[in-house]
Amino acid sequence: MNTSGFFPKGKFIEVSITGRACQLNCPICGGRWLEGMLGVNRPEDLVKLGISEWKRGARGILISGGYNREGKLPIQPFLWAIRELKRIGFIISVHTGPLDKKEAQDLGKAGVDIADFELMDENSARIAKGLNLSLEDYLRGMEDLSGEGIEVVPHIILGLPGSREGSLAGYIDIIRELKIRRTVILGFIPTPGTEFSDETAPSPETLRRAAEELRKVSRVSLGCMRAPWLKREYDRMLSGVVDRIANPHNSLNLERVEACCSIPEELIDRFI
Ligand code: SF4
Repeated sequence: MNTSGFFPKGKFIEVSITGRACQLNCPICGGRWLEGMLGVNRPEDLVKLGISEWKRGARGILISGGYNREGKLPIQPFLWAIRELKRIGFIISVHTGPLDKKEAQDLGKAGVDIADFELMDENSARIAKGLNLSLEDYLRGMEDLSGEGIEVVPHIILGLPGSREGSLAGYIDIIRELKIRRTVILGFIPTPGTEFSDETAPSPETLRRAAEELRKVSRVSLGCMRAPWLKREYDRMLSGVVDRIANPHNSLNLERVEACCSIPEELIDRFI
């Protein structure tokens, strides 16, 4: 299998709509993973940022941010700004998890193209994120987003504290049932200053085995979150197993696409 490198920081900007703040402050992250993103706090600032980034050459935008205590991105006040970005011409991804039907409809109406959807089992949701959610909540959220014509790309973090043996089989059933075209796998990073800083990152072999199972039901990307100290090993082991690697180790010298690794094939031309 041919593997390409995806570099989201070029034409596909990542924006936190809560700046550096996160109310959820979950045990695995404590807000630290927001630090590498551009930050805004008001919808009008999102539009301003979009206009200047469009002039610079950006064509895609990932809208992410800290979550509220229910584990949701507080996106409602930003819907009009997203419509405006869409009108300018941006491809729009939203980093989301379970949400209700009305929220999915709102994202559909705003013109969201892709949902980078965090998929995890009940135990991980509770232990890693402090959330009381079942796998059915995740399934319903994915169905509702798909029903709005949004490309749902599940993001599965391997090695999450609390994740159960056998969870992968459940994810594979969901992915098959919903005819998901692409799945992103990531590796849990034990992050200094968080409750789980002493845990171990998943082995490159763990990621490879998961990718081999998942690719029986969908295309698979190796996403941008993985322990930097294992990056070379991860990327070497996954190269040829997945067809996309986000921010690949430079020893691999892969063909370059300047976009998030979740974009549908038919949009790639805009990011080469
Ligand atoms: S994992 Fe892929 S889709 Fe998700 S933020 Fe990173 S590059 Fe973008």
